[in-house]
Amino acid sequence: MRGCPLCKLARTRKNAVPGEGQLSAKIMFVGEAPGKSEDEKGRPFVGAAGRILDMLLKEVGIERSQVFITNVVKCRPPNNRVPEEDEVAACRPYLDREIALIKPKVICILGRTAYSSLLGGGSITANRGKIMEKAGQKYFLTYHPAAAIYNRGLLSVLESDLKKLAREIKGEEGRPSMEDYL
Ligand code: URA
Repeated sequence: MRGCPLCKLARTRKNAVPGEGQLSAKIMFVGEAPGKSEDEKGRPFVGAAGRILDMLLKEVGIERSQVFITNVVKCRPPNNRVPEEDEVAACRPYLDREIALIKPKVICILGRTAYSSLLGGGSITANRGKIMEKAGQKYFLTYHPAAAIYNRGLLSVLESDLKKLAREIKGEEGRPSMEDYL
């Protein structure tokens, strides 16, 4: 996707930003789109929102190197505006391919854009912090870490949501499976 010409963001980006992380990741985080730092470095969540995400992951005992982190749209929208419908649609095959390759146990949706793209959207406040299922794929919804830059109160909500997500994943590892008895 580094040389992707499929939408108008190709004309203004410095670098396309593919997802990165562990191929065997159980959790895939999906954000909105690269910001300025991500556009400069070609890596997802390496700016202010990324620092918050890193801190949260550390607090709940998840290693960044063990998960996969990506965005709905792989190129920075000018002035960090919300990605437009045609841009989201043009980029969708890349996200679908990432999901197909990683086969995450849970996709953790970060914020509004990813929520509407992956599950059709709705109220984050009403639906966050729980596992949802669609077409055999599990999803977990929480706020976008950047929301906590402007609203510090959301930090503790994000932290308790991610704690719950970590428990779900670890709980799954701890549960006996058929193979344990064979
Ligand atoms: N915000 C996002 O949604 N994604 C990034 O990669 C960085 C900031």
